[in-house]
Amino acid sequence: MSPLRHHTDGDGWVECTCGQRHWGLFGSAGLMVVDPARGVLLQHRAEWSHHGGTWGIPGGARASEESALDGAIREAHEEAAVPADQVTPSHSWVEDHGPWSYTTVVARCDVDFVPYPSDPESLDISWVPAADVDALPLHPAFGKLWPAIREQAFRHLVLVVDAANVVGSRPDGWWRDREGAAERLHDKLAALTSLPGALLGLPATSWWPRIHLVVEGQARNIYRADQSAPSDDASPVVIERAPANGDDLIVAVVDDALMRRPDDHVVVVTADRELRQRVTRSGASTVGPRTLHQLIAGGA
Ligand SMILES: [Zn+2]
Repeated sequence: MSPLRHHTDGDGWVECTCGQRHWGLFGSAGLMVVDPARGVLLQHRAEWSHHGGTWGIPGGARASEESALDGAIREAHEEAAVPADQVTPSHSWVEDHGPWSYTTVVARCDVDFVPYPSDPESLDISWVPAADVDALPLHPAFGKLWPAIREQAFRHLVLVVDAANVVGSRPDGWWRDREGAAERLHDKLAALTSLPGALLGLPATSWWPRIHLVVEGQARNIYRADQSAPSDDASPVVIERAPANGDDLIVAVVDDALMRRPDDHVVVVTADRELRQRVTRSGASTVGPRTLHQLIAGGA
C-alpha cells in the first residue's frame, strides 16, 4: 500500500463467510456522482491497488461509527476532490455479505467542480457517459452491479403524502386538533433519512426522498404563524397547501414532478381509492398510510 493513502480505523481485511477476503473491517462504501449532462464520475484505479488498472468508483473502508453515506462521501472527497458538503444522495445499493458489506451511494453534486485524482489511489478521475461505461475494463465488483445501477442512476424518489388520509388512518384523537396532527406528521417526515426501496416497490436498497406534504382544510395553516417552525426552504419536506380540494393538488404535484423529470419515481401515500386511480393514470405509484407508518417507525 502506498504510504500516502488516507487511513481509517476500518482499514483491514475481513475473512468473509462467502469464502473471500474483503477490504474494510466495518464494510466499505463508494460514491458514484452522476450528472445528466456529463455522465458518471469514475475512477481509473492505480496499478498498485487491488484490481489495479480497472475503472470503478471512488470508495474505501468505512471508519467505525461512520455511516455508509458519510464514508462514501469522505472517500470521494479524498480520492476525487468531490466537494463533500455539496453532495446530495439519491439512492444506494448494499451488497450485504453478513460480516461485510459494500454500499454504493449514487448522488448528485450541487455545484460545478473539476474532479481530479487527489490521492495516489487514482490514475485518473473522469466523467464517463453512461453509454460508454461498458466499454471500459471495469473493477469486477462494480461491473457486476453496473447494469442495475445504470437503470436507476439518474432517477430520484419523490414522495407525495396525502396528509389528511395518513393522519386519519389512526384513531389517535387527531380530530380534536387537525393542525397539530398534521404538524406532528410533518416533523416525522422531516426526520426521515433514507427509505428502504423494497417497502416502496422500488429497485435499489434505499432512497433519499424529496417529500411533498399536501395539507388541506384546517391543517392548511400548519407552521404558517409559528416563526420558530422550519421554513419551507430549510426543511426537506415541502408543504403544499391546498386552496380547496387536496386531491386535485396531489394530482397537480404528481403531474408537475413527472413533467420536470419523467424518469423519477413518484410515490403517493394514500388509501383513497379514487385518488390512487387518478395518480396512477398520471404515472405515479402508490402505497398506503400503513407503509408510511412503517417507514416512520424505522423501515423494513
Ligand atoms: Zn463476502
